[in-house]
Amino acid sequence: MWSLLDWIFEPQCAACTAPGAPLCEACAGSLVELGPACPRCAEPGADIICARCVRAPLPLERIVSPWQFGGPLATAIRRLKFTGANHIARTVAPLWAPLVAAAASDGGLVIPVPLHWRRRWNRGYDHAWLLAVHACANAKLPPPVPALRRIRAVAPQSTLAATDRRSNLRGVFAVVARHAKRIEGRDVVLLDDVVTTGSTFAAASEVLIAHGARSITGVALART
Ligand SMILES: [Zn+2]
Ligand SMILES: [Zn+2]
Repeated sequence: MWSLLDWIFEPQCAACTAPGAPLCEACAGSLVELGPACPRCAEPGADIICARCVRAPLPLERIVSPWQFGGPLATAIRRLKFTGANHIARTVAPLWAPLVAAAASDGGLVIPVPLHWRRRWNRGYDHAWLLAVHACANAKLPPPVPALRRIRAVAPQSTLAATDRRSNLRGVFAVVARHAKRIEGRDVVLLDDVVTTGSTFAAASEVLIAHGARSITGVALART
């Protein structure tokens, strides 16, 4: 089926739109690995717990990410989020599926960080949900569980200073009632496209912990 579609619509690079492959060789080659980072929040730098995590530890065990946000990966994520190019969620799945698989290897419940329904309505889809669906499929994991919802729309985190991010997110997430029982006593793997300060993961984690989650690992496709 896909080969037929590929024949009708020649694939183009998720980042630079060059025809031929879902991610062209040049773009794939210029992805930058995250490298040494804080083992708690994935802040790039040294492989030691960073000053911020010492001062104010996040409520989740750790955040991991395979790539630095920037270059072709940033372009691909922006195209996925803002141009309707929802097929890109599938294109980038192999870039982080191994990390998602490792995080969920002990039976972790995979839950994506959700968009507010109004933003999903405007966009036509929830990019983080699609990213999670394809990452799980690629990692041969059970499908993700839509156990969280946003109960309050907020100013985009990218427009705020780090100090305002936590307060901007207070009371933003809630657990979906019909999935609440599934969270109790479980190790949860939270997925999101990009992590910056970890405040979104933290706000989502607080709600999951309040519902009995045993541990939480955040996995982001890219770290700024
Ligand atoms: Zn390219
Ligand atoms: Zn840290």
